[in-house]
Amino acid sequence: MSKLEITGRVHSFQSLGTVDGPGVRFVIFLQGCPLRCGCCHNPDTWDPTGGTAYTPEEIVQKASRYRTYFGKDGGITVSGGEPLLQAEFVHTVFQMCHEEGLHTCLDTSGCLLTPAVKSLLSETDRVLLDVKYTTDEDYRRYVGCELEKPMTFLTYLNEQKIPTTLRQVIIPERNDSEENAKRLKKIADAHSCVNKIELLPFRKICQIKYDSMNIPFPFADLPEPTAEMMQRLNHLIT
Ligand code: SF4
Repeated sequence: MSKLEITGRVHSFQSLGTVDGPGVRFVIFLQGCPLRCGCCHNPDTWDPTGGTAYTPEEIVQKASRYRTYFGKDGGITVSGGEPLLQAEFVHTVFQMCHEEGLHTCLDTSGCLLTPAVKSLLSETDRVLLDVKYTTDEDYRRYVGCELEKPMTFLTYLNEQKIPTTLRQVIIPERNDSEENAKRLKKIADAHSCVNKIELLPFRKICQIKYDSMNIPFPFADLPEPTAEMMQRLNHLIT
C-alpha cells in the first residue's frame, strides 16, 4: 500500500489541547484498543471498526491550521484508543508532520512492539507512556495484559533515547499506595529516557458513556482521588 492509500480510523480531534504533551497541541484520538482497563474513560474508542476514516494528509492539514498556537514546544499528539494498533498510519502522519516541522508525540499503553511500531517510534519526538500499575498482578487483573509489555516497550524507548513521560491515573483503592508511587519512581529512575512523571486523577465523568453503551463501568464504585491524595503522591515521585 502506498503512503497515500493508507487511512486511519479516527474517534475525534481536540484542536488546542494542553494536557497531552508539551505546550499547546492538536490531539487526535484514534479508534481501537485491545486492552480493557477498569478505569478507561474512553470505552467508545474500543471498537477498531468505529470512527471515521481519514488520510494522513487530511490529518496533517488539519493540524497545520493551528501551528501558530504551537509555539516552540507544541505540536501534534496521537492518542486513543491505542494508536499502536494503527502504527503504519501514525508513522505516515508523523513523517508528514516532520516534513512540515511539527513536533510529534505519541500517547500509548505500550502494549505492542512490532516492526511497524518500531518504525513509528523512529518518527516520534516524545512518548507519553501509561504505566497503569506497578505489579504484574494488578496489570493482569485490571488491564488485561502483563506488566512486562509496557516494560519491554520502555526498555526499547530507553535504547532509542526517545524522550518519555511516564503517566499514571491514580485510582483510590487500586494504585494510591506509597509503595506504588515509590515503585513508579524506581521504574522512572532506571530509564534515563524518562524525564517526567505525571500522575492524573481518576475521574468518573465517563459513566455516561458506559451507560449509553449499556455496559458496566468496572470502577463505578471507587471514589475519585482528593487533591490531598494527589499532592501526597506527587511529593513521593519528585
Ligand atoms: S489502554 Fe486506554 S483506551 Fe485502552 S482500555 Fe486502557 S484506558 Fe481505555
